[in-house]
Amino acid sequence: MTDVYDFAVIGAGVFGLSSAWQLAKEGHTVAVIDRSPVGTEASGFALGRVDPPLTDTFTDSLMLKGDAESIAGLDTYTALACASYSAHHRLRSEIEGVSGIDYEFDERLMIELLPDERSRRIFSRDAAQWTAAGVKTELIDPVDFARFDDRLIAPAFGGAVISGGFFVDSLKLAKALEECAYASGATFITAEAIGVRVQPGNAVVETSTGDVTAARVLVALGPWTGDFTQRLGQHVAVYPSKGELLRLVPPEGPSLKPHLHGEISMVQKRDGLFWVAATADYAGFDRTPTGKAANHLRNAVVEVAPWMADAPAAAHTACFRPETPDGLPLAGRLGDMERIWVTSGGFGWGIMYCLAMGEAVASMMVTDNDETDIRGLRPDRFPPDASAPQDPRKPGRAL
Ligand SMILES: Cc1cc2nc3c(=O)[nH]c(=O)nc-3n(C[C@H](O)[C@H](O)[C@H](O)COP(=O)(O)OP(=O)(O)OC[C@H]3O[C@@H](n4cnc5c(N)ncnc54)[C@H](O)[C@@H]3O)c2cc1C
Repeated sequence: MTDVYDFAVIGAGVFGLSSAWQLAKEGHTVAVIDRSPVGTEASGFALGRVDPPLTDTFTDSLMLKGDAESIAGLDTYTALACASYSAHHRLRSEIEGVSGIDYEFDERLMIELLPDERSRRIFSRDAAQWTAAGVKTELIDPVDFARFDDRLIAPAFGGAVISGGFFVDSLKLAKALEECAYASGATFITAEAIGVRVQPGNAVVETSTGDVTAARVLVALGPWTGDFTQRLGQHVAVYPSKGELLRLVPPEGPSLKPHLHGEISMVQKRDGLFWVAATADYAGFDRTPTGKAANHLRNAVVEVAPWMADAPAAAHTACFRPETPDGLPLAGRLGDMERIWVTSGGFGWGIMYCLAMGEAVASMMVTDNDETDIRGLRPDRFPPDASAPQDPRKPGRAL
């Protein structure tokens, strides 16, 4: 640990790994510090949705390219969604090729469940616009659900069938990014980060196993980012939002083809299991899975997929989304600390955002800038007293 790295990245979730890979790929020396094996936290337990950009400003097929020119002038969320969606398509073969890991980037038709007139109105308003922009969206009536699976119980106002959605296995993606960073020369250090001190010429990350010295440091600690930066005297508004997910073993029978999305998401993934996600609660860092969440998820499934009523659970997981007061991620210099940057706040979309964020963060740090090319993500955009929302916010929709 006597080397001086160009960059030290604290946190090996998908945000830290993606940034570390981009930095290492450019030939910089990079140390990645994490207290746990890759994929132990949310990055290894997400549902793994990568959605097309579904917003009311998504109006032009060029935006799916996600490059600087086609997203210029868009609001922050739409720009980020376009950049993220296209980064997944652009980088997939490189990540799989370098890592040798197939992370199951699979296309799935989504049926948005429309329980009431209001939801039907919203989707009928946007369907033509999204279709024209390249994301085919078709409104269907309850009777049409049988076209997709004749076992389904359709909601009263039918659904919106939306193309262009993908899923990944988030644990495999995280491990693939780890392999990519490693193949590009990054060093992985298993240690708890305790603090960072800045000294003339570099910064020192103090860890449970000793100091790691680097010219520049990235704090990418997911939901722990706020607590850690507090130790450095900097307030960064990131809070844990607990998310529980069930993986159910379906009875013998045909597999469910589309991804169903309403109050929650249901999708049968390559492992054959029925993934049901997710709850959102504010319970600090208590990671105990609860019976209440399991019941809530199962009841929502049975309303549409009654054949799942008695399906045993292969897994019931609980982990923490990093949430910000406005639900968008953050990236930028940490206060007035010249050598330290921070990125976090992926909330319910960190898997989708991580590749675009990694590129943007690496570019910002290499060029010694305060913020990324995706405008509006500065960590200091919140008032000093900004806190987590009191009521759970719905994490499962890009709208
Ligand atoms: C139930 C659920 C479903 C989800 N579904 C989706 C989805 O479908 N699509 C999507 O895009 N996103 C989804 N997400 C969101 C996504 O999982 C997160 O936004 C993303 O994984 C956050 O990545 P991260 O790298 O910021 O944080 P994390 O994955 O939490 O990584 C933070 C890392 O920091 C390390 N760490 C913390 N403190 C220290 C310390 N002091 N020293 C050293 N290491 C430390 C931890 O060990 C961890 O490895 C979901 C999340 C949940 C909970």
